[in-house]
Amino acid sequence: MSLRDQVLRVLSKHETERNPDHSHDPRRRHRSINGDAAIQEEERNQGGTIENPGEIIKSVKDKLVGDANIVIISNGEGYNFRVGDSEFIAVGDFDSQSERVRLFNGAFKDETVLKGVVAHELSHLIFSRVQKKLSEEMSAVNRLVMDYTENSDPFAKNGVMSAEGTLRDEYKKRFPYYDALYDYFYGKHYKELKEKDGITPYSASYWKAHEQGNGSWDTAINETLAEISRLKAQGIKKGIPNIWRGFYREMNSLYKKTK
Ligand SMILES: [Zn+2]
Repeated sequence: MSLRDQVLRVLSKHETERNPDHSHDPRRRHRSINGDAAIQEEERNQGGTIENPGEIIKSVKDKLVGDANIVIISNGEGYNFRVGDSEFIAVGDFDSQSERVRLFNGAFKDETVLKGVVAHELSHLIFSRVQKKLSEEMSAVNRLVMDYTENSDPFAKNGVMSAEGTLRDEYKKRFPYYDALYDYFYGKHYKELKEKDGITPYSASYWKAHEQGNGSWDTAINETLAEISRLKAQGIKKGIPNIWRGFYREMNSLYKKTK
């Protein structure tokens, strides 16, 4: 298959998969609370010995997503879930439909853990909002490409894009999310992202599941970015490959443009 056929396939596949209702798919609910919501006293006591969880949550939230209107709640005991062959107990989760983060008891073990869990879950919010914009632009680019296909070649020198699917200069400003993210989601970084996966055992489990056909590429990158967010909030900088650092930076800077 030629590169241009691959690009056309990605675009049309995107079109057929657009706006699916993921809310009932447990794999789409990302384990990861509303930063401004005060945690109830009794819930606070269940979890651990953190003096001021509300302040910690708020500081992580302010730093990562600013004044985003999201709900963060403390939700008692976490549930068990599997990713491929691995079993985990939820310390938090994120529902992209309601934009709600739930924090479970395990998240309140100590301050470092709490910071990390909140940062992980908020990364899912960033991913969700940025992906929505990307999806809108993918559709718009797809319409342009189809118009070209009717009349002329979208990959020609004066067309929409190169044979690799990257936009020609005059279209880059019009589709900033597509321009910045195409290579990460669909293009040339695909292989390297996959090879440099496994930043933490948790994200590694999603890549493994993806390889075995039990999980999507989107979920694997979403969880890997969330783990990077967790590590950074916990002050751990070592061991994050450059390609992933770049991807993480891009997502966070694009998020600021979504408002
Ligand atoms: Zn997650």
